[in-house]
Amino acid sequence: MSKKDISYFIRNESQEKRLLNHAIDYSFDYIDRIVTRNVFPTKEAINNLSIFDEPCPVKRSNGEEILSLLNKYGSPATVAQTGGRYFGFVSGGMLPISLAARWLSDCWDQNALLFISSPIMAKLELIVEDWLKEIFKLPNVTVAGFVSGTSMATFCGLAAARYKILSRQGWDLKEKGLRNAPEIKVILSTQAHSSVIKALTLLGIGKKDIAFVEADNQGRIKSNKITCIDNNTILILQAGNVNSGSFDPFISIIEEAKSKNAWVHVDGAFGLWALASKRFTHLTQGINLADSWSVDAHKTLNTPYDNGIILCKDKEALVSALHAGGDYLMFGNERDNMLYTPDMSRRGRIVELWAAIKYLGKQGIEELVNHLNDMAILFTQELKKHDFHILNEVVFNQVLVACDSDELTKKTLEKIQELRICWCGGTVWNKHIAIRISICSWATDRKDIKDSVNSFVKARLIAIKQLNNK
Ligand SMILES: *Cc1c(COP(=O)(O)O)cnc(C)c1O
Repeated sequence: MSKKDISYFIRNESQEKRLLNHAIDYSFDYIDRIVTRNVFPTKEAINNLSIFDEPCPVKRSNGEEILSLLNKYGSPATVAQTGGRYFGFVSGGMLPISLAARWLSDCWDQNALLFISSPIMAKLELIVEDWLKEIFKLPNVTVAGFVSGTSMATFCGLAAARYKILSRQGWDLKEKGLRNAPEIKVILSTQAHSSVIKALTLLGIGKKDIAFVEADNQGRIKSNKITCIDNNTILILQAGNVNSGSFDPFISIIEEAKSKNAWVHVDGAFGLWALASKRFTHLTQGINLADSWSVDAHKTLNTPYDNGIILCKDKEALVSALHAGGDYLMFGNERDNMLYTPDMSRRGRIVELWAAIKYLGKQGIEELVNHLNDMAILFTQELKKHDFHILNEVVFNQVLVACDSDELTKKTLEKIQELRICWCGGTVWNKHIAIRISICSWATDRKDIKDSVNSFVKARLIAIKQLNNK
């Protein structure tokens, strides 16, 4: 490199701050528009993304121009998830304090792997681990790992389960691998989330090792169909069906499974937060008797993305599973975050989770969860007034909606998406096409529901016309 090239790397604070200020201006502009803009990007905004098509740059470019490009063409092609009328998937909004805390910590650029790589991240993980135990009422021995999302959290929980079951039989997984290993049985609802099957596959457990158990018409596992649980069994239950929001009947199933020494994992991606509210006690009873739990903060708790949590009652199993043996004993006396996750280097995602819990408090979390449920119930009532059919019992934040025929439901959903007032996805529920509503943003209010219901009605009218003209 010539001397001139190297000069690019000389620190220039005013330039650095100018860039960050631009980012703030663009962000504020985005926030100002979020309520009034279309919820899904226009065709034009999506077509304009072709601006990003270019060969890998050879020369340097200007930071301000890069940011401006991102703002001009990136922002309009986003899905307006933070606005209050986005009901797709189970996505979650974002608490402003959580974003602000993340901004600050982004400037820190911490590596959260060990205490010595970032004392602040080690401290916050330790604190939040305790807080989560209290919020979810989990046993005191529970440890928490902070991962990217529930898919990864479930992978970690099931890895701990696999480790425990094999090591109980004297099988050293690290040494011998899976070939000829003792059999592990998995019991799984036919309504389990696809990420659970993916996690099992990654762990070398295929469908032939899974006993699928039927679910009832709400998507809850049928407890009387669960058989042959023993101490080689991993039983996976669900708090919050991804379509209906229903909860598996935990207490009797888990008591039985634990009496046989099976490992019980709960996928509570969005539903585990029901434990934070007295309103849902009837749904969550016995959930704390399980061995491991996976949950997202980026869904119900409304932190920014990249915030999943694995909670596990058996520290030894979790740490050994993720680190292949007892090597972890070499670490320091303080919390070493990497022990509880599969990664090494990673960002300090704990900051936004810590800020969210500190901001809301247990009361605020309860109110947030109740609010999502209130809005789901309101949505349901309003839709019923307009003769839409509600296909599920609305027990939490999910609502499944249908029109008079599958054909009309499908067309209506298409039109809802085209109108862009709100956004919902579709699914198939008990063999019928359904519009799937997930309320998971603090920002959703009564007006959002009213506007969305109006859009549903308008969409159905257009759909009827179009179908009649065919
Ligand atoms: C979202 C979801 C997952 C996957 O979580 P990610 O954070 O997307 O990895 C798993 N299970 C259920 C029930 C979910 O809703």
